Amino acid sequence: MNDEIENKLREKNTKPTSMRILVYDFLASQDVARSLSEIENHFYPADRITIYRTLKTFEEKGIVHSIQENSTSKYRLCSDDCNEDTHKDWHLHFYCRICKQTTCRTDINFQAPSQATLRIDEVRLFAKGICENCLDETMQ
Ligand SMILES: [Zn+2]
Ligand SMILES: [Zn+2]
Ligand SMILES: [Zn+2]
Repeated sequence: MNDEIENKLREKNTKPTSMRILVYDFLASQDVARSLSEIENHFYPADRITIYRTLKTFEEKGIVHSIQENSTSKYRLCSDDCNEDTHKDWHLHFYCRICKQTTCRTDINFQAPSQATLRIDEVRLFAKGICENCLDETMQ
C-alpha cells in the first residue's frame, strides 16, 4: 500500500515523506472533500503547519485540488491528468445543504472548445443542492 503511494508521489515529482504518505492515504480513503481542520483533527496531535504545508505542496504538484466553499477550502485527490504545470479538475463540485458534504462530480465536466485560441488555466464549477442520499431520505 505504502509502495503504491510512494510511486504516485514520485510520479508527480514529490518526495514521499512519511507525513505526505499519511495525508495521501487519508485523502484516498475519503469519498468527500475534506477541509484543513478536518484533516488536522484526524492527525491530531501532529504538527498543523506540516499538514498545511503538505496540502500546499500537493496542490502545487497536481496531487490535490482545492474547492472553495464560502470561506473554507476543501481538498480532494486529483486524477492522474494533473501535474505541476496544470490541473485538469474541470468537473462540477457539489455541496449538499443537508449533509454539508462536498463531492467531485466527474460525470459533469467542462469541455474547452477544441477550436479555442485562448488558454484556460483554471475552471471552477460549483453547485449547491441536495445529494442523492439526502433526497432519498426526504422521500421516505
Ligand atoms: Zn488537479
Ligand atoms: Zn447530502
Ligand atoms: Zn474535484
